[in-house]
Amino acid sequence: MNNLADKNILIFGLARSGLAAAKKLALLGARVTITDIKKDSDVEPETIRHLKDLGVRCELGGHPESLLQGVDLIVVSPGIYLDLPILQKATAPIISEIELAFQILKKPIIAVTGTNGKTTTTTLIGELLRAGGNKVAVAGNIGNPLVEVDDTNLDYVVAEISSYQLETTKKFKPFISVVLNIQPDHLERHKTMAEYIKQKAKVFAQQTSDDYLVYNLDDPQVEKMVKAAKAKPVPFSKDKKGIVTLDPAGIKIPGRHNLENALAAASVAKLCNVDEKIIAKVLKAFPGVEHRIEFVRAINGVKFYNDSKATNPDSTLVAIETFIGKRIVLILGGKDKGVSLEQLVKAVKKNVAEVILIGQATKRFKQVLAAKGFKAILLAKTMPDAVKKSLELARQGDVVLLSPACASFDMFSNFEERGRLFKQTVLQYASTKN
Ligand code: ADP
Repeated sequence: MNNLADKNILIFGLARSGLAAAKKLALLGARVTITDIKKDSDVEPETIRHLKDLGVRCELGGHPESLLQGVDLIVVSPGIYLDLPILQKATAPIISEIELAFQILKKPIIAVTGTNGKTTTTTLIGELLRAGGNKVAVAGNIGNPLVEVDDTNLDYVVAEISSYQLETTKKFKPFISVVLNIQPDHLERHKTMAEYIKQKAKVFAQQTSDDYLVYNLDDPQVEKMVKAAKAKPVPFSKDKKGIVTLDPAGIKIPGRHNLENALAAASVAKLCNVDEKIIAKVLKAFPGVEHRIEFVRAINGVKFYNDSKATNPDSTLVAIETFIGKRIVLILGGKDKGVSLEQLVKAVKKNVAEVILIGQATKRFKQVLAAKGFKAILLAKTMPDAVKKSLELARQGDVVLLSPACASFDMFSNFEERGRLFKQTVLQYASTKN
C-alpha cells in the first residue's frame, strides 16, 4: 500500500491516538513498538492483549534508550512533549499521528485549526457536506483519531487539528485549511505566542495554489500569519468583508463567535459545491456541540448554560458576550493556565452580576477580580456547591453560566466530566423545583 509496510516504527504514548496508530501500522505490516511512561498495571489488560495479538511490542513504565535502535520512524501522540530526553537523542524522523494519517489517506482533507471554535466548526462542516450529498468522516482532535479513518468510500475527510498535532507535521497538506482565530493559549507548552503561531501556520505551510485557505479576516493575528500562504485565500468576516455572507438570524448556534464559525463552515461548504439553500437549512437547524454554551434547563425562570469547554479566558469572554443584556451569574475557575485575565475581568465588571469561583484558580482569580474592584464573589468547594450557590443568587430572567476559563484537571478527568456533573446537578434541582 505504501512504504510504511516494511518500517520499524516506534510510537510514543499509549492513549487513543497512539493506540490507533499502532493498530493501523501493524495492519499495514510495519514492525511496531509502543512505549509509555504508564506501567502495565495502568493499562487495561485487554488493550495489551489486543496489541500483542497484532504483533505490537509494548514497552511500558518508561522509555529505555535501547528502544531507538534500528528505528526508522517515530510517531508521537499529542500529549508527548518533544523535549523528552529520549526524543532529543533520536535520529529517526519524528511525526505526529496526523502526519502519519496524511501519509496513508488518499481523499481530500479539510483541516480546521484555531484557538477556539474548532470542534463546533469541524462538526458543522461535516453536517453541511453530508447534507450536500457527500460522504465524509469527521475525525482528528474530535472523536476518532485521524489515522483510524478508512477513506476508501469517502469524498472528504474533515479533521480538527490542534497546535500540538501540528508541531510534528512535515508534509501535511490539506485541500482546504481553515484558520479560525489565534489567542493566547497552551503557552505552558509552546512558551511564546510566536512559537504557538508558528505551529498553527503549519496547517497551510505545505499547501499550493491548488488548495484553499479559509481564514478569519477580522483577526489581526490570523491576517498577519496567512500572508506567507500559497493557497488560494478565502477570507471570511463578520462585518461582511468576505465572500460568503450570512444573516445571523438564520443561524441557530448563539453568539457573534458562532457567526464566525458558521461563516468558516459555510465558506468550506461552498468550496465543496454545496448548494446555498442546503447551507441555509443546515445552519438554521444545527444545535451546536455538547459543552459549548449548551442550554441545560430553566429553573424558576433562570436559564442554565453549560460551557465547560471554555478552558481559556477568551472563550469565556465570548460566552459572556453572548448573554449581554441579561443578568449573568458566572461560575469560573478550575486549573489555572496562568494567562492574562485583563480582558476577561473587564467583561466581568461590565456584564456579570455575580461570580462563583471553584478549583485551584480560585486564589488568583479572586485577587485579580478584587484588585479591579469586582467584589460580588462567592467561593464554592465543589461543582454541586457552585450550582447550589448559583440558584440562591439568581433571579427570574437571569442566566447561570458555567464557563470556567480554566482547564478541568484539578477536579475532573476532563471538561466533559465537569460539564456532565454541572448538568446532572442542575437537572436534579430542576426535578425538585419545577
Ligand atoms: P475548540 O475545539 O477549538 O476548543 P469549541 O468549538 O469546542 O472549540 O469551543 C470551545 C470554546 O470556545 C467554547 O466555550 C465556545 O463557546 C468558545 N468558542 C467557540 N467558537 C469560538 C470562536 N470562534 N471564538 C472564540 N471562542 C469560541
